[in-house]
Amino acid sequence: AERFQKVLITGGAGFIGSNYVHYALTHHPTWEIVVIDKLTYAGNLDNLKDVSDRITFIEGDIANPEDVEKAVNGVDAILNFAAESHVDRSLRDPLPFIRTNIEGTLLLLEAARKHQIKRFLHVSTDEVYGDLVGSDRHSLETDPLSPRSPYAASKAGAEHLVFSYGISYGLDVVITRGSNTYGPYQYPEKIIPLFVTNALESKSLPIYGKGEAVRDYLYVEDHCSGIDTVLHAGESGNAYNIGARVQINGIEVATTVLGLLDRPESLMQYVSDRPGHDYRYSVDPSAAETLGWERKWDFKRGIAQTVAWYQQNADWWQAVKDKKVFQEHYKEWYAR
Ligand code: NAD
Repeated sequence: AERFQKVLITGGAGFIGSNYVHYALTHHPTWEIVVIDKLTYAGNLDNLKDVSDRITFIEGDIANPEDVEKAVNGVDAILNFAAESHVDRSLRDPLPFIRTNIEGTLLLLEAARKHQIKRFLHVSTDEVYGDLVGSDRHSLETDPLSPRSPYAASKAGAEHLVFSYGISYGLDVVITRGSNTYGPYQYPEKIIPLFVTNALESKSLPIYGKGEAVRDYLYVEDHCSGIDTVLHAGESGNAYNIGARVQINGIEVATTVLGLLDRPESLMQYVSDRPGHDYRYSVDPSAAETLGWERKWDFKRGIAQTVAWYQQNADWWQAVKDKKVFQEHYKEWYAR
């Protein structure tokens, strides 16, 4: 039998949140699903178009107590995906990151405590560990948090609040620390959808510095199944890494995408590096694997599937890229 009946998914109109809504409707067909999303530039109701009649959607802000009160009514689990999520934007304008990622998480925790929610799952990131450059080790959940960008700092701050509610109030909390995620419905400011859609438009692919920063690329469906595993089997008060055990740098991402789309490597364009760029993240996902989670998609299959999705869904990303909010950030950021 299902442990949860009614589940609140915050940020469910964003990239990973909307993928998780689709995942949950397949794997937990008895769940009543409520989504709260502020529909920022990154939120997109098109991501939920095909399932809109199977969920309750609330347009609202997790940093607004009235919106949160409305959203948590009657739910027995909260999954917090909502966040300002783009490192580059956090370098230009950090305040919204503090408001949504820290204050928003705090309001959700307060509501969870008041309403005696059964479980609070907070979606965090491997970026809280900071840079592993110069070492060949993989971050463990017991490592200290050492965030280095305003985005990562806001996510680490949120984590501390989540843990504190577990300790101070006995709230049942779990945290996932997923690695760099890619797949359908990802806003095209992030590296993979940016490279894929630029390549499709025969525009250049902007590569930071020498393109040597490495990430552990995780296909979104694997990230969703990892979150689902931790929701059901994770030990209260614990964090779990979710990663694909791969190390891929920017040049490899670009050449793979260009190869799949049969575009020339002359489209690669080196641009000034991100300030304070972290050169290596890598997590050890053994603890999540012990819970029964396993990665199903390797990079070769995942990237091929992703490229195919963007090829077949040009309407989706063209509408996003046509908007002023996309173009302004792009122009100003890469003209730095
Ligand atoms: P996203 O930017 O695509 O989606 C975020 C969603 O949250 C959007 O729909 C947005 O409208 C919504 N939102 C923002 N502020 C809100 C607010 N105040 N109230 C309600 N909704 C709000 O981001 P994503 O890539 O899907 O990331 C989802 C979560 O996963 C985030 O918490 C992020 O930190 C985490 N994460 C992302 C990655 C990655 O590689 N993308 C990796 C690990 C962890």
